[in-house]
Amino acid sequence: MLGVRRDADPKAIKDAFRELALKYHPDRNKEPGAEEKFKEIAEAYAILSDEKKRAEYDARGFAGVSGFSREDLFGGIDFEDLFGGMPGGLGAGLGGGLFERFFGGRRARGPARGASIEVSLEVPLERIAEGGSERVRYSRSERCPECAGTGAKAGTKPRECEVCHGTGRVFDVQRQRNVVLQTAKVCAACGGEGRFIDSPCGRCGAQGRVLREEEIEVKIPPGLEEGTVLRVPGHGEGAEEAGGLPGDLFVHVTSRPDERFARVGADLWHELRVPVVDAVLGANYRVPTLKKPVSVRIPAGTQPGTILRLRGKGLPEAGGRGMGDLLVRVAVRVPERPGPEEMRLWEEMKRLVDHS
Ligand SMILES: [Zn+2]
Ligand SMILES: [Zn+2]
Repeated sequence: MLGVRRDADPKAIKDAFRELALKYHPDRNKEPGAEEKFKEIAEAYAILSDEKKRAEYDARGFAGVSGFSREDLFGGIDFEDLFGGMPGGLGAGLGGGLFERFFGGRRARGPARGASIEVSLEVPLERIAEGGSERVRYSRSERCPECAGTGAKAGTKPRECEVCHGTGRVFDVQRQRNVVLQTAKVCAACGGEGRFIDSPCGRCGAQGRVLREEEIEVKIPPGLEEGTVLRVPGHGEGAEEAGGLPGDLFVHVTSRPDERFARVGADLWHELRVPVVDAVLGANYRVPTLKKPVSVRIPAGTQPGTILRLRGKGLPEAGGRGMGDLLVRVAVRVPERPGPEEMRLWEEMKRLVDHS
């Protein structure tokens, strides 16, 4: 991501990050995608500049660090120090506001971010083998554009509740001698809403929010590990308040169930059912792979449950080192209703076996 070598020292990583951050800084680069790119770069830097996170990343790729929260990821970085002395006051922007603008977190001020959305995505094994992109469809809610989130019909306004003055809560005040006990309760008049909508918005039915169908593409790297969670920044729920950033979308990726194969890490398992005679005498079979079928030899005297290993015919290992295997498990099929002739031969076989 930062274009540095795996064994780069901290200084080189820092320099690479500063250079890229300048290039994609959203205050300077107005091209679409620059902001996303900037976020990715900052993430990569957060991972590479911390030994523990870096080790997780080296070992397991993005899956290794996807469990980190924003605070975990960026908590140890001094952005002010990194960008102090950058041209055009960008450093100040990054240290004093840009961080919050992009990454939210505890230090955030202003409107709250929208909630995150989690969706699951089943990906065919072929796509996991080759890598590529997959479409994700989901629905997210956002502020109703017609009423700007008020829930009231265009040209009208919600009416403030007179009992609670719009707060949705009332205070029950009890005086005991010189102590005042104050308890907050939900306002019964408005049910805690704080307002009444006399003419509801036709678009959202007074909800203030509408559902929108979304379709985005996510990149599937070859060999993506089972259960990896991909984060798509900014594609979660819209913020409740104006000016708030949307939340993130988390895509939980699993392999689509496949009749031919079961996936175990980078290995694939296939069950090959062979009639008992083939197990005894041996035979050639065609076995499916994710590309074209291959032939395998079932040796004479193959036992039920024998596993044949076809090296390198599985999925790529996560992180792009090597390939998994295809393991063919031989299941021996015993005839359930042999015909009279076949039955006679089996009986003859029994006599043979008994006398041997
Ligand atoms: Zn509306
Ligand atoms: Zn009220």
